[in-house]
Amino acid sequence: MTFNKVLDGVKTYEAGKPIELVVREYGVDPKDIIKLASNENPYGTSAKVVARLEEVAKNAFVYPDDSMYELKEALGRKFKVDETNIIIGAGSDQVIEFCVHAKCDANSKILMAKTTFAMYEIYGKQTGATILKTQSNEHNLNEFREIYKTQGADIIFLCLPNNPLGECLDSKDVYAFLDEVDENTLVVLDGAYQEFATYKDGKKAIVPSEVISKYSNVIYLGTFSKAYALGGMRVGYGIAQPEIIKNLYKLRPPFNITTPTLASAIEALKDEEFVFECIIKNFEQMKRYEEYSNSKGFKYIPSYTNFITIYLDGYSSKDIAQKLLEKGVIVRDMTGYGFNALRITIGTDAQNTKVFKVLDLVL
Ligand SMILES: *Cc1c(COP(=O)(O)O)cnc(C)c1O
Repeated sequence: MTFNKVLDGVKTYEAGKPIELVVREYGVDPKDIIKLASNENPYGTSAKVVARLEEVAKNAFVYPDDSMYELKEALGRKFKVDETNIIIGAGSDQVIEFCVHAKCDANSKILMAKTTFAMYEIYGKQTGATILKTQSNEHNLNEFREIYKTQGADIIFLCLPNNPLGECLDSKDVYAFLDEVDENTLVVLDGAYQEFATYKDGKKAIVPSEVISKYSNVIYLGTFSKAYALGGMRVGYGIAQPEIIKNLYKLRPPFNITTPTLASAIEALKDEEFVFECIIKNFEQMKRYEEYSNSKGFKYIPSYTNFITIYLDGYSSKDIAQKLLEKGVIVRDMTGYGFNALRITIGTDAQNTKVFKVLDLVL
């Protein structure tokens, strides 16, 4: 059978390894497995959200509220924007997909940092668009400018902070860059880890209401999967001017967000205390990874997120990741990105203690 030719250039996304696989392949007791490969919130689903999910379970037979009125209203209040400025996706991933398909075809160009969120390129290639990348791995706005000036772009992705490296541009530099971008170029500001960055350093804070009132060509993306501890519910959002939102809506499948998902996101927004406590603990625990790396002479990238990327000079990160896996510690090996490094999600105190113990054992 023949398929759409553009698919020849599309890579399949590789998710972090699930706990079930480690149980099956290495016979590790599920209780002893710690999964620090997908940047989930290690403190688990908040108790209030769990209680709410139990309440809505009995409504599983009814289609969800496809207007998503309540969630949009809650997000509108949080971000001081109107409902017409918001689109909800099955993860912000789905909003990225809408953005790419709304703007691109085989003649389009998409500009991004060399090492950034894999889905930008995957969705881009689905349309046959050309992917333009900076030379530097981390975001370098002068390189973005240079490529944009000489080659142009239909979409520019800025990941603030950047996954999988953890660095983050200052918002004033981002705003200065936006001033130079043509209004027909869609700029996607991916704020999947903004809650973490904003807590660590106010200079990194992107304010969606300010950005979209000044720039009609910008969309801000947020997700409930990371700080809000709802990775399994699949919910994220985009904030932009109504003209952008209206066009993205044309690509949205009906009922793309389930009833339990809507209820859990609304509840999570009422429990900001939980999120705040998780973020504080995240950075306390991150210090331990920095100290551990220093004690071993390993370099790391200072991180504004809930993960840290550590270079394993003198070792093979691929081997070390495999050995950790066999002992029930799941982390992300960065060999595929051309780095001899591990990306480790910052876990709970007990989980991190175990990571250091097992690392000591395998190194
Ligand atoms: C996790 C992540 C997302 C979106 O995740 P969803 O679970 O689809 O909401 C988007 N961008 C980056 C950079 C991420 O790390």
